[in-house]
Amino acid sequence: MTKALFLDRDGIINVDHGYVCDIEEFEFTKGIFELLQLFTQEGYLLFIVTNQSGIGRGYYSQEAFEVLTEWMINTLHDNGIEIQEVQYCPHAPKEKCYCRKPQTGMIDEILKKYTIDLKHSWMIGDKQSDIDLTRNAHIGSSIAIGDRQFQNYDYSFASIQACTEYLQKNIALLSK
Ligand SMILES: [Mg+2]
Ligand SMILES: [Zn+2]
Repeated sequence: MTKALFLDRDGIINVDHGYVCDIEEFEFTKGIFELLQLFTQEGYLLFIVTNQSGIGRGYYSQEAFEVLTEWMINTLHDNGIEIQEVQYCPHAPKEKCYCRKPQTGMIDEILKKYTIDLKHSWMIGDKQSDIDLTRNAHIGSSIAIGDRQFQNYDYSFASIQACTEYLQKNIALLSK
């Protein structure tokens, strides 16, 4: 069984400027390449699970999202990072779908295709819904990023850079 790192996108992979939908607005967070390289080195598969209600709200199209996603995946690849899959929820909250975090639909889709050791897997996000997803989907450890007031997380850091530096120094955490 393989361990996985599940990643939120906005606020984790890229700076959250609000409904980011094109390449010009997409700014990788400081330290994210090193963080993903660290998990890769430790044998984790990487999955992005992202709420993209901007599609359901009509702010941008699914096509625009997919163009940006392809560019993002290629850029990460050029930095030695392979993303297995990007799962996204295109729905607005009022649609009451089963995939919008903190519901587990996107994780359920991934588990149909991959055998994942959830207990030893991690989730990293910048909203309470990411942390709640961790519990709802029985993912072993959660990391909360940023200065929101979080509950029920395992680790929290002010920034991705701080998280990266901590895990580089405490790499044993990733091999448990
Ligand atoms: Mg986010
Ligand atoms: Zn959805």
